[in-house]
Amino acid sequence: MSYPEQLEALLGQAVYELPQAEKEQQLGSLLLALHRHHQLQCNEYSQLYPQPLKATENMAGLPYLAVRLFKLLDLKSVADDEVLKCLSSSGTTGQIPARIYLDAVTSRWQSKTLVKILQQFLGKQRLPMLIIDCQASHMSGAALNARSAGIQGLAMFGRNHTYALNADMSPNWAAIDAFCAQHQHEKVLIFGFTFMVWQYFVKALQQQGRSINLPQGHLFHSGGWKKLQSESVDNATFKQGVEASTGIQQVTNFYGMAEQVGTVFMECSHGYLHAPATADVIMRNCFDLSEQPTGEQGLIQVLSALPFSYPGFSLLTEDLGTVHGVDDCECGRKGKYFTVQGRLPKVELRGCSDTAAAAV
Ligand SMILES: [Zn+2]
Repeated sequence: MSYPEQLEALLGQAVYELPQAEKEQQLGSLLLALHRHHQLQCNEYSQLYPQPLKATENMAGLPYLAVRLFKLLDLKSVADDEVLKCLSSSGTTGQIPARIYLDAVTSRWQSKTLVKILQQFLGKQRLPMLIIDCQASHMSGAALNARSAGIQGLAMFGRNHTYALNADMSPNWAAIDAFCAQHQHEKVLIFGFTFMVWQYFVKALQQQGRSINLPQGHLFHSGGWKKLQSESVDNATFKQGVEASTGIQQVTNFYGMAEQVGTVFMECSHGYLHAPATADVIMRNCFDLSEQPTGEQGLIQVLSALPFSYPGFSLLTEDLGTVHGVDDCECGRKGKYFTVQGRLPKVELRGCSDTAAAAV
């Protein structure tokens, strides 16, 4: 089977029912095909990894790129005239954003995969949607690109899209109150980036002594805990705070990289993140990069079957995580389940990026 046929077959599988051993086979052979494709089509990639891989190589034996390389190099595996859009990741002030080149095919697969994953949680019906952000027209620069891409990805699951924040990040009470009055008794979708939901929504409600009531709301949030950790807000505190101020009981965190749009690792009711059929994670020892056993913290490597137009199918992130088990989460989903503990401390981060830069 060709790569597109294999990918279609994998996308046709139930999202969370593939046991790990079978995933190693199916996803593994797809990733090997992607490795060969990028070797042929991306100069920089083939310079980093000139050697052919054995067809018997397991997933842990596949090469990976430091995610930082997308900030340093223009990595693409399709001709310039096939590039549909270039996504740039957030990057705080002074940092170079990563540049991700998408063609029509990769872009379509990203949307299809995201739809399949989210339907597991939301069903097929579009729900009224409250977005904890300001309208894209008020954003600028890199923030516009990364944030609006994230919002657009989820917006296709919603209707009556309502933006909860003004341009200055203050709550738009008129919009929020109108949304709540209209949809209080229905299922609604709420989406925002973790920090923004906490800082500009939950805390704003608390500070003003206000509350809203969306008992059938389902909040999805992503984007990392770094800023919240400094305020000692963990997942449990976050959920309690959200419920106390908004009545929302269903809160789902998810993990994903701007460099692998469409590939999201959703949190289950037991608090673990799950890899869908089209993706996987491997934790690597911070010092020698060997694969960590279950239960041991390591650097998160994310593997995804989707990146065809850029060599992002296997990335070593700068996040720390732990795999807690395989095929036996109490929620019933198969495959690996894991948690994310945050970013590498800065001093080690520099070490890693030096290594990545030296490898080029
Ligand atoms: Zn689970």
